[in-house]
Amino acid sequence: MATIAFIGLGNMGSPMVVNLLKAGHRVQVYDLQPEAVRRAAGQGATPAASAAEAVQQAELVITMLQSGTQVDSLYVSGPDPLFDHLAAGTLVIDCSTIDAATARATAAQAMTHGLEFIDAPVSGGVAGAEAGTLTFIVGGSETQFAEAKPVLQQMGKQVLHAGEHGAGQVAKACNNMLLAVQMAGTCEALNMGINNGLDPKVLSEIIKQSSGNNWVLQLYNPVPGVMDKVPASRGYRGGFQVKLMCKDLNLAMELSRDSGSPVPMGSAARALFNLHQVAGCDELDFSSLLTLFQSSERGE
Ligand code: NAD
Repeated sequence: MATIAFIGLGNMGSPMVVNLLKAGHRVQVYDLQPEAVRRAAGQGATPAASAAEAVQQAELVITMLQSGTQVDSLYVSGPDPLFDHLAAGTLVIDCSTIDAATARATAAQAMTHGLEFIDAPVSGGVAGAEAGTLTFIVGGSETQFAEAKPVLQQMGKQVLHAGEHGAGQVAKACNNMLLAVQMAGTCEALNMGINNGLDPKVLSEIIKQSSGNNWVLQLYNPVPGVMDKVPASRGYRGGFQVKLMCKDLNLAMELSRDSGSPVPMGSAARALFNLHQVAGCDELDFSSLLTLFQSSERGE
């Protein structure tokens, strides 16, 4: 079993740490929020007072942060760059969803320190992180992928190799843009059915058995009370915040611009999520987009 440093104990990072502990690893944890560190320590992790302390003696470093700026600042450009604290040959796995350019630049910086860095963003949400069923989408060399795979399998059921450094982030941006389109479309269809007198549970079941079936309906229904254990049934708390979906859609727009790829559906979804965010819903789960359709009917 390995000594693993894990930095970033938010909605996703916390349950991922629990699965590493279950697999028998020593997990040294750090987050800017002391409460998150205390919670992880209560579950058996080893608390650290700084990122530099967390990586002491670590054979492997995993990060689960919000943005490319945070990743760059932690490893490379901040006041105490973490790359300066790692032994040559250490494998660094960044699971945050960030822009491909920062992932490639961080990998290049790692190389100059004799370190191995891969991008490994995830799909599957908080429920997948808790159940250990995440999908990891890896960008890096074949050798790095092979080295990372066993530990990633302890937190997920699929570990996929997208290509070289940054490719994991490109694939993740494509996926999340499609997820945003699916969520927006599902909210609008369910809302129309409800407004025409249908029971949302019945309508959801009918569409699941028909050609409109999709991931949102199967696992993440946006209407409160239709499914247990989804954010919609706990006031849209926890889960995947609207502000993070907006961030991912901005990443998708950058990719579309850089590659000259038309994304009219992604642009429409981005406009809807941005409207929802500025209406004060940035901390809610992204399935709360349903309430944007409901409030526009009421003329709010
Ligand atoms: P979160 O905001 O809940 O957690 C991020 C954590 O990182 C916070 O606790 C924050 O304090 C910590 N952090 C930031 N900078 C730090 C630093 N320098 N040192 C230590 N800790 C630091 O976010 P989340 O929902 O866990 O998402 C994390 C990443 O995973 C994001 O990139 C997100 O887009 C992606 N993601 C989230 C979901 C989801 O359903 N929540 C699903 C797939 C992917």
